[in-house]
Amino acid sequence: MRYRHSVAQSAEYLRLAVKRMTQQEAGLHPASYALWYEYVAGLNPNLQSEIDALLSTNARLDDETTYALYSRYVSEFDSNTALRIGDSVGHLVEQVAESAALAGDQASRFGSSLENWAAAVLRPAATSEPPANNGVADILRGTRQMQEAISTLQARLEDSARETQQLRLEVARAREEALIDALTGLSNRKGFDLALAACLAHVRPETPGPCLLMIDLDHFKRLNDSLGHVFGDRVLANLGQVLRANVKGKDTAARYGGEEFAVILPETPRGGAVGLAEALRARVAASRIKRSGDKEALIGNITVSIGVADYIAEESATDLVSRADRALYAAKMQGRNRVVLAQRPTAESRVRDQTDLQRGV
Ligand code: GH3
Ligand code: MG
Ligand code: MG
Repeated sequence: MRYRHSVAQSAEYLRLAVKRMTQQEAGLHPASYALWYEYVAGLNPNLQSEIDALLSTNARLDDETTYALYSRYVSEFDSNTALRIGDSVGHLVEQVAESAALAGDQASRFGSSLENWAAAVLRPAATSEPPANNGVADILRGTRQMQEAISTLQARLEDSARETQQLRLEVARAREEALIDALTGLSNRKGFDLALAACLAHVRPETPGPCLLMIDLDHFKRLNDSLGHVFGDRVLANLGQVLRANVKGKDTAARYGGEEFAVILPETPRGGAVGLAEALRARVAASRIKRSGDKEALIGNITVSIGVADYIAEESATDLVSRADRALYAAKMQGRNRVVLAQRPTAESRVRDQTDLQRGV
């Protein structure tokens, strides 16, 4: 984790970063935040010296320079941090806006009581001698100026609040996109890891599941070699469609990597998981995929093998995945285009595994 600052410390960096950002020409987007956060937190000496050199020529950073610096120095920017930064900025602006609204309110109340008072004081003066209340007039003028300054500040804060809200939405969208695989539209590996961790954190003994399916295209290398990678990609996208159409609700379908896919079924008993796996397998086997530029040729014979594992209490995500993986391997060994349910280790073998682990073997 790149950013390990406490809330108080990061809030301070945030204030400094916001100040720096607003002095530039570039928009107040996440890339700009990330850049200035890194700068003020002193995380990135090379970035710092390049920015210092640019600023020393009185330049204000525009979008192009900001993005260039961002991709050169902050490309591993973590989207969770961006979201946290976006949230904190929103919070900060809301707080300041509240204080400004309060101050505006107080100033206007103060102003109107001064005006009432001045009217009362000035009335007799107007009828007799020339006004000797210049002091009061000065205070009134001062108060009006203060009111104007505060309403300008309020308007600017409202703008910032709107921009921050926009920024939050952009960061949230970027975060979602960061968890999606572009080719298939399914969750990517990172999305899968997060979904599985969340699923295991909410396991309840009284509900069935969870179960995990690991799916792998059969002889995909051969298919790529004979029909080309473009067609291979089309097959992957088609499998993505099949999964999206058949995996809904609380369940998550993901592209685990390459030509491997996974499905997390948080509240499904193993019978249901095997049933779904079988339906998916049959659907893929029955599909016919068109080759681009070739209207006639519909390619069939595309199959998947699937390993299914149902969760064992206290099991880690890694253990659940490797049991599903071993079942998948067994499906391949048994001839492919089939579903295999993972073994549940017996109590005896679990004790043996534990002892081996303790002995370091
Ligand atoms: P098996 O039935 O044992 O799974 O055989 P396989 O050929 O599918 O398995 P192997 O792991 O040997 O090969 C996987 C192939 O998947 C290799 C690679 O060319 C292909 N592949 C992985 N990712 C992609 C991708 O994004 N696009 C395409 N077109 N091919 C991919
Ligand atoms: Mg394969
Ligand atoms: Mg594979």
